[in-house]
Amino acid sequence: MDFKPAKKLGFGLMRLPLNEGATDAADVDVEQVSKMVDIFLEKGFTYFDTAWMYNAFHSEDVVKEALTSRHPRESYTLATKLHAGFINSKEDRDKVFNTQLEKTGAGYFDYYLIHGIEESMIDKYEELDCFNWLLDKKEKGLVRHAGFSYHDTPELLDEILTRHPEMEFVQLQINYLDWESEWIQSRGCYEVACKHGKPVIVMEPVKGGTLANLPDEAAKLFKEHDSAMSLPSWAVRFAASLDNVMVVLSGMSSIAQMEDNTSYMQDFVPLTKDETDMCFKAGEIINNQIAIPCTGCSYCTEGCPMKIAIPRYFSLYNENMRENMAQKGWTINFTNYGNLVAAGAGRASDCIACGQCESVCPQHLPIIENLKLVAGHFEG
Ligand code: SF4
Ligand code: SF4
Repeated sequence: MDFKPAKKLGFGLMRLPLNEGATDAADVDVEQVSKMVDIFLEKGFTYFDTAWMYNAFHSEDVVKEALTSRHPRESYTLATKLHAGFINSKEDRDKVFNTQLEKTGAGYFDYYLIHGIEESMIDKYEELDCFNWLLDKKEKGLVRHAGFSYHDTPELLDEILTRHPEMEFVQLQINYLDWESEWIQSRGCYEVACKHGKPVIVMEPVKGGTLANLPDEAAKLFKEHDSAMSLPSWAVRFAASLDNVMVVLSGMSSIAQMEDNTSYMQDFVPLTKDETDMCFKAGEIINNQIAIPCTGCSYCTEGCPMKIAIPRYFSLYNENMRENMAQKGWTINFTNYGNLVAAGAGRASDCIACGQCESVCPQHLPIIENLKLVAGHFEG
C-alpha cells in the first residue's frame, strides 16, 4: 500500500508561534496556528507532525484545538512519537500512547514513530519491546504506519533496519549543510534508508532556522540565481528533491512562513543539478562561519539542574560570532544575555558538567565545552 502523501511538505508542530510577550513555549498562539492549519489544508497539504514533548509538552493539545476539532478526520494525516526519556516500564508505553490519543483527539495515528533512536537509547527501546508494541497498535487499528526517527551513524541505522524490516519508513535529519557532516552524516543515513527500500521523512531541512539566515556571501549566491525565492526555500527544496523522500517537515512558526513554504511546495519542481551544487557551495560558506551548530530543538533544557538556557545562549553566541565582534566590540546580545539571566535562567558559567544535556542532544554537541565559550564571551 502506498502511504505517501500527495504533497511533500509536512507541518512540523515543534516551533509553534507563541502569544505576544510569552516566554513559556507552552503559551501557544492557537488562533494563529489555526489559521496556519487552514492555509495548509486549503492548499492540499495533509501531513502534520507532533510529539510528546514539543512546545513544552503542549503541541499535542494544540493539535486538538487547531486541527482535529476543526477539520474532518479524513482531511489530514497525523504523526506522533514515543520517546525513551518518558518511559521506564512496558506499562509506560501505553500510558503515553493513551494520553496522546486523548490529548490530540485524533482517534488513531496515521504515522507513529519511535522517537530519536540513537546508540544511547536503542537498548531501552529493545528491552521495553517497543517495536513489537508498535506493531500491536497497528494490528488494533490505532496506528496506520510504523516507523522511527533517527540520530546516529549510517552503520547503526543499517543494523536497526536489518533487525526491524517491519518498520515502514524512517525520519532523518537531512539538509545541505549536514549532507557530508561528520556528526549528522545526512548522506550516509539517506543511502542506508534507500538500500533498505524505506521512504524517508526529512526533519530539520532548514537546520532550526540556520539556513534561513545566511551569511551575506551565501545569501548572494541564491539571490543572484533567483531573487524571487526565499532563502529557506532552497533548503526545503533541496531535501524534497531527493528521490525516496516522502515528506519534508518544516517547523513553521508564523503565517508568513506557511505562505512562503506552501507557495513553492504546492506544485513542487525539483532542483536542477546546478542548483543542488549551489546549495553545497552555500553550505561550505556557512560551515566556515558557524560557531556552534545547535538547531534549537531544546531537548537539552528540560533536565538541566541549573536551568541554563542552552539553545538561547548558543544562538546569541553564534550571532555575535557572525557580527564580527572584533569590529563592533559590543552588540545587543550582551543585553539579551543579561535579560535571560535576570528572568531566572542559569548563567553559562553555572554549568556543573553533569552531562545530562549532552546525553540527549541529537546533534551530539559538546555542550559543556561550548558553554565555557559562551561564559567567556558574555561573562568574561
Ligand atoms: S552539563 Fe551543564 S548545561 Fe548540561 S545539564 Fe548539566 S548543568 Fe545543565
Ligand atoms: S544543544 Fe543540542 S539538544 Fe540543545 S537545543 Fe541545541 S541541538 Fe538541541
